[in-house]
Amino acid sequence: MNRELTRKGILFVLMGPTGSGKSTFCERLIAEFPEELSYSTSATSRPPRPKEIPGKSYHFLSREEFIARREQGEFFEWEETHGNLYGTLQATLINGIQTGKDLLFQIDIRGALNFKRHFSENTVTIFIVPPSFKDLQERLNRRGTVCEAELQRRFTTAQSEYEALLRLHGKSNAIDYLVVNEKLDTTYDEVRAIVMAERARYHRMDKQSVEQFCEVKV
Ligand code: 5GP
Repeated sequence: MNRELTRKGILFVLMGPTGSGKSTFCERLIAEFPEELSYSTSATSRPPRPKEIPGKSYHFLSREEFIARREQGEFFEWEETHGNLYGTLQATLINGIQTGKDLLFQIDIRGALNFKRHFSENTVTIFIVPPSFKDLQERLNRRGTVCEAELQRRFTTAQSEYEALLRLHGKSNAIDYLVVNEKLDTTYDEVRAIVMAERARYHRMDKQSVEQFCEVKV
């Protein structure tokens, strides 16, 4: 007989300023655990950047289409960041849950709080920060894909995300983990360890599946 532990799916939400490394961790997690994790592709009204793949990096919509679909109730959550609209489509969420895999999201802190409110038991929030502001500046400058005004907007957004993060300290369990990304590989190991540990949490397991392993025959 094949014994398998079954449990409720987990929604892993990775947050952090642009340049924190969250996209790299998402990509590595999906590459390492293709059977266990699936990426939830958000929709956005911002134009694609070089190397971004429509339908994979984002569902790219015009602002008008985004608003029309939002008005039709197609979004589970949405926010405006850097002057662009971003959101998780209900359909993406439902299809993702139906795959039976755990889902991985890369969204902002306000979106993460929405998930925590609706799926408090099954959402795991991980905030990733670069070791310093200087480091963040260097990482963004090195990318060289955005103009100066856009860069300034991203710093402002980073600051407001940090403020939101600090306001939540000690007040709720909205943020589960904070990881400082000093060295990419070490930090990836840390994020991976969080994912593995959360997948082994007893409270999400189906009792019947646990019972198969708790057999004593004397
Ligand atoms: P970027 O333009 O750099 O890809 O993303 C800008 C910000 O939007 C990031 O903080 C990113 O996490 C956030 N974001 C991306 N998708 C979503 C989403 O579906 N919902 C929310 N609330 N934020 C998102």
